Amino acid sequence: MKKPRGINTICTHIGELKDNEFKGAVSPLYMSTSYAFEEVETKRYPRYFNTPNQVALAKKMAALEHGEASLIFGSGMAAVSTSLMAFLKMGDHVVFQDALYGGTSNLVTEEFKKFGIEYTFAKDASVESLEKEIKKNTKLIYIETPSNPLLMITDMEAVAKLAKKHGLVSMIDNTFASPVNQNPIDFGIDIIIHSATKYMGGHSDILAGTVISSEENIDRIFQMAKNLGGSLSDYTVWLLERSLKTMGIRVKAQNENAMKLAEFLSSRPEVAKVFYPGLKDHPGHEIAKKQMHGFGGMLSFELKENFNASEFLKKLKLIKPSMSLAGVESTILLPAQTSHGLLTPEQREKQGINDNLMRFSVGIEEFEDLAEDLTQAMEN
Ligand SMILES: *Cc1c(COP(=O)(O)O)cnc(C)c1O
Repeated sequence: MKKPRGINTICTHIGELKDNEFKGAVSPLYMSTSYAFEEVETKRYPRYFNTPNQVALAKKMAALEHGEASLIFGSGMAAVSTSLMAFLKMGDHVVFQDALYGGTSNLVTEEFKKFGIEYTFAKDASVESLEKEIKKNTKLIYIETPSNPLLMITDMEAVAKLAKKHGLVSMIDNTFASPVNQNPIDFGIDIIIHSATKYMGGHSDILAGTVISSEENIDRIFQMAKNLGGSLSDYTVWLLERSLKTMGIRVKAQNENAMKLAEFLSSRPEVAKVFYPGLKDHPGHEIAKKQMHGFGGMLSFELKENFNASEFLKKLKLIKPSMSLAGVESTILLPAQTSHGLLTPEQREKQGINDNLMRFSVGIEEFEDLAEDLTQAMEN
């Protein structure tokens, strides 16, 4: 077999459409919602996920994650909900990892009961805890690694083996790692989901999602997807293709900055704890080394008790307080006031989320400028 292309080559070229008429350098954009039905091989319609731009981008997504096929959605949650619904029916049970993206955990706790789907959240991110929750009617295991906001690491190879042993479908939300840092299919995971709003878009201006898997699984998800109707407009598909061209270099710069900042923050007397899988003392470091190409652009840290994190955020000049993540600009948030704000202080404490914990989405600015911004906010 031919060796697969490297990440930056996939990002720049795979799936691109040829402009045969004018020989332009980039994929032409086809905005039609209406296509001929006679004498054509494929009956095309945007909600069937098969317009020229949708198909072209899906090829790039599949190549990025070493899968056979892919679908592009209007949001990460459309990809998550459609993929789950495609594999679950009344009476089935799902095992979820404990620390899930807030939107996914809302989907499960607010909607699953209505459809008669049972679920359990495992005690932590370990494979032992996931296995303990498997029941007779369990059909699917769902994980996220690194997790939000403490960047806990789940062993993907062990989860894939566990799923195969019990005949379950394994699904991962790979958003935090991005395909640059982690390719779960190589470890035997069946289905990969991304919120493309994050590292794939990378500029905080696109809402999108994607799922990547085998032809067979993607066809099954497509049967549900065309009924639920969560496809992405072709204009945004085209913009996302453009954004992906620089994903490799953006994410590598973010990895490098995050590693240096994790070490810098660890060395500061004002900082109580730093959570980053690239640090040797992080509990998931050894597994992360085995399954990640880079440790990612997300890190969390906790200021000592004599600091007030809200006051600290106000003093930052370069790093912006922001709800989302993974843009080229550095952003920061307080999980206790945002993603985990609905939990009681006791529940938060149990999950290891202190009021002074900050989740830092590291951008591509110069490391020295970011370190200086943090220093002035800690010292003044
Ligand atoms: C943002 C996010 C989602 C949801 O994606 P949307 O594009 O906002 O719908 C799912 N999982 C993770 C890990 C995310 O960060």
